[in-house]
Amino acid sequence: MSVLTAADSSPTASVDLGPAAALSCRECGERFPLSPIFACASCFGPLEIAYDLPSGDPEGLRRRIEAGPKSIWRYAPLLPVPADVATKPNLNPGLTPLVKADRLAAELGVTGPLYVKDDSGNPTHSFKDRVVAQALEAARAFGFTTLSCSSTGNLAGAVGAAAARAGLRSCVFIPHDLEQAKVVMAAVYGGQVVAIDGSYDDVNRFCSELIGDPLGEGWGFVNVNLRPYYAEGSKTLAFEICEQLGWRLPDQLVIPIASGSQLTKIDKGLKELIATGLVEDRPYRIFGAQAEGCSPVSRAFRDGHDVVRPVKPNTIAKSLAIGNPADGPYVLDIARRTGGAVADVTDAQVVDAIGLLARTEGIFTETAGGVTLGVTRKLIEEGALDPSLTTVVINSGDGLKTLDAVASAAGPTATIPPSLDAFRQAGLA
Ligand SMILES: *Cc1c(COP(=O)(O)O)cnc(C)c1O
Repeated sequence: MSVLTAADSSPTASVDLGPAAALSCRECGERFPLSPIFACASCFGPLEIAYDLPSGDPEGLRRRIEAGPKSIWRYAPLLPVPADVATKPNLNPGLTPLVKADRLAAELGVTGPLYVKDDSGNPTHSFKDRVVAQALEAARAFGFTTLSCSSTGNLAGAVGAAAARAGLRSCVFIPHDLEQAKVVMAAVYGGQVVAIDGSYDDVNRFCSELIGDPLGEGWGFVNVNLRPYYAEGSKTLAFEICEQLGWRLPDQLVIPIASGSQLTKIDKGLKELIATGLVEDRPYRIFGAQAEGCSPVSRAFRDGHDVVRPVKPNTIAKSLAIGNPADGPYVLDIARRTGGAVADVTDAQVVDAIGLLARTEGIFTETAGGVTLGVTRKLIEEGALDPSLTTVVINSGDGLKTLDAVASAAGPTATIPPSLDAFRQAGLA
C-alpha cells in the first residue's frame, strides 16, 4: 500500500496539503510532487496520494479525531488538506448516520447486524460533497479560479454549491438527458452549466480536451486534473463507518460503482485505518453494485476478465451510468482479493429496492441506492453475502432527485371529497 514513511518521502511538497506527501503511480509506483496532474509521466497509470501518516500513537489519534469537528474534517490528519481546513468556507459534509436497519434485515432474511450508511443527508444530498470538499482544498492550494467537472448529475450540484460557498467561479458539464432535479441543483447555485449532446463518457472526453487547451487555463476539474485529491474524499465513508461501529471494521460492504472511485477509495481508507492502528486488522469483503443497463465491471467479474470492456449505458440509474469506468480494473482486483463480488440488477429491481428501503427504514434513496440495495438482496439470495455477518450498505443519494423512477408507483392511495362518508366508502379506515 502507498503509505510513505518520513524517511522516503523524497519529492517535497511545495503546497500545504497536510499529511499528503506526494503523488504516486498506482501502476509503477513512481512518485511526483503534489501538483494538478493525474497520470504518470512514465507509464500513464493513474496517480493517487501517498502520505506521511501519523504512526505510533493510535490512541492519541483516535482521541484527536473524536474531539474534532462533526464533519469529514475530524479525519483531516488522514486527508490531503491543510490542518486548518475546517476554518475555511466550505460545506462541511459528512458524519452522516449509520442506520441500524433491523426491519430491512428481517425482510431480507439477514440475521447479523445490517446497516445503511445514509449519505442522502449531505449538503447537496449525495456522497459527492465528500469528494468535492477535498478537490476544493487542492484547487485553493494550486490557485485555480474556476471549479469544474464532468458529471453524471450529483457532482454538478456539489461543485456548484462548494464553489458558491468558497467564492469561486464554477462551470460544470453534464450529459443533456439528466433528471430535472439534478439539472436544477446544478444551476441554482449560480454557476454555469453546460449540457453536452452526448453520454457521460463523451462529456468526460470533452473535459480532458478542455484541460489541454488554453481555454481551460486556471480551471480545476475536480474529477479530472484534481482527481487524485477528489478521490481521497471517499475514504471518509470508510473512516466514519468504522468509527460509528466503535472503531471496528465491518465484515462486508456493498458499494455502488460509477467510475469505481468510491469503492477503491473505501478500500484504501480501510487499509489506512489498519496501517495507523485505528482498527484491528481482520478480513473484510467488498462487493460492488451496478445496474444491468450499465454493467461493464459486473460482466468482467462474472466472465473472469481483468479488463473492463466499455458499454453504452441504458439505465434509470443515471448517476452510475459510466460506460467506461476509470477504476474498473481496480474494482475487480479489490472484489477478488477480498473475497467479494460485483453484480448487477435490472431497472425493475432498482425500483423495487427503492420501495423496500423506504417502507422498511423510512429512507428514500435515489436510483443509485436502489442499485446497491437491489444487488445486496440478490447477493444474499445467491449466498455470496453471508447473512450472519456485519454488513454495511451505502446509500449514496436522495430519492427526491430521481422522482420519476417511482412516481408512477407512488401516488395518492385514494382521492376523495372532504367527507367522512367518502372516506368510509374508500375502505381505508
Ligand atoms: C457519483 C456517484 C456514485 C459513485 O461514483 P464513483 O465514480 O464510482 O465514485 C455513487 N452514487 C451516486 C449517487 C453518485 O452520484
